[in-house]
Amino acid sequence: MNPTIHCSFCGRSNDTVEMMISGNTAHICSNCIENAMQLLETSKSNIQAENITSDALKIPLPIDIKAYLDQYIIGQDMAKKILSVAVYNHYKRLQQAEDADEVIIEKSNILLIGDTGTGKTYLAQTLAKLLNVPFCIADATALTEAGYVGEDVESILTRLLQAASNDVKAAERGIIYIDEIDKITKKSDSPSITRDVSGEGVQQAILKLLEGSIVNAPKQGRRKNPEQEMIPINTKNILFICGGAFDGIERLIYKRMNTGAIGFHNHATQGIHQRDTHLLQYVTAADLKAYGFIPEFIGRLPIVGSLQPIDKSVLKKILVEPKNALVKQYTKLFAMDNIHLTIQEEALDLIVEQAMELKLGARGLRTICESVVMDAMFELPSQKATRQLTIDKDYVANKIDLNNNNKAA
Ligand code: ADP
Repeated sequence: MNPTIHCSFCGRSNDTVEMMISGNTAHICSNCIENAMQLLETSKSNIQAENITSDALKIPLPIDIKAYLDQYIIGQDMAKKILSVAVYNHYKRLQQAEDADEVIIEKSNILLIGDTGTGKTYLAQTLAKLLNVPFCIADATALTEAGYVGEDVESILTRLLQAASNDVKAAERGIIYIDEIDKITKKSDSPSITRDVSGEGVQQAILKLLEGSIVNAPKQGRRKNPEQEMIPINTKNILFICGGAFDGIERLIYKRMNTGAIGFHNHATQGIHQRDTHLLQYVTAADLKAYGFIPEFIGRLPIVGSLQPIDKSVLKKILVEPKNALVKQYTKLFAMDNIHLTIQEEALDLIVEQAMELKLGARGLRTICESVVMDAMFELPSQKATRQLTIDKDYVANKIDLNNNNKAA
């Protein structure tokens, strides 16, 4: 018969417990082990909760935000600076104690203006990643005023909620990027008998979100189904970044700058020509109004940043330098099949030239690269012998020609 031993913690004897574990000089019963386990779990989750709250309070400094963006996005310094400061202030604003004093920091949503493929969406996306907040992209062209065919504006919040895994509190601190905002301009200046349901009507509807109010978002989907469950979301602390190419706005900016000082040569416009200057950087609220935005809408997007058009040298950098550069991605993809990829300088130059022709900004790079590597990605993984892929200028020319010919045929 086993000798009677007692738990060193609770004193129970081995015949009254399920199991007794003995060390050199002490014993512990299964009850005490279970209790200790529970204590450990509680303490762990307390530590996690503390970390979450302190993480939420830790806002990176503007200079650090920009340094982070620099790792992923080439150039666009002005837009990066504007975003870094705006986001920093936004999150400081979230921390302001209510009623602490009479100064209330107001929300400052952001408008980014720049050609397609210059990095507007990518900037917003990268920011959200840094801040670890829910992020979603909405397309303004799909929206219509409530009651008309198309998506209701509230559906944007549904998407953010989905990105936040239905955590309303998290969604209420998220970032929403509304793309193609330039497509919801007023359709005409004169009042018309037909309602402007996808222009001014949508501006009015989005205004409600931008201002910060409690909006009922349909829980699922974007369908206008009156019976579905609605979730109230407070948009007060959601940061909105709107972006668009604003085709033709340069003309308005140029006109304004050249008619400002009649009879004098306007100092600000000296040496400015409509074609060769990045006129977008001079955009003002007046230009946006002339472009077809209602003043209240412009007022809710007080921070305006412009993005530089992307030239050849920037395109080439985009191809190889950022953390997520396309060349790095392809190298990794091939390496997973043990294939060593080398792309020669001249091949990169040709890819860049072809991408310039597409006039899609950096977006065009991916299209060209996909055509170039497609065959190799199809064939090489099954060819055990080939372990090296060198892409030179002729290889690129050959693949692009072939693709163009196929399309023409
Ligand atoms: P848009 O200005 O039309 O919103 P995007 O941000 O969607 O353009 O850019 C498309 C893609 O091009 C991005 O996903 C990114 O990979 C790349 N890209 C665009 N601009 C830059 C940039 N300045 N630096 C690095 N990559 C860029």
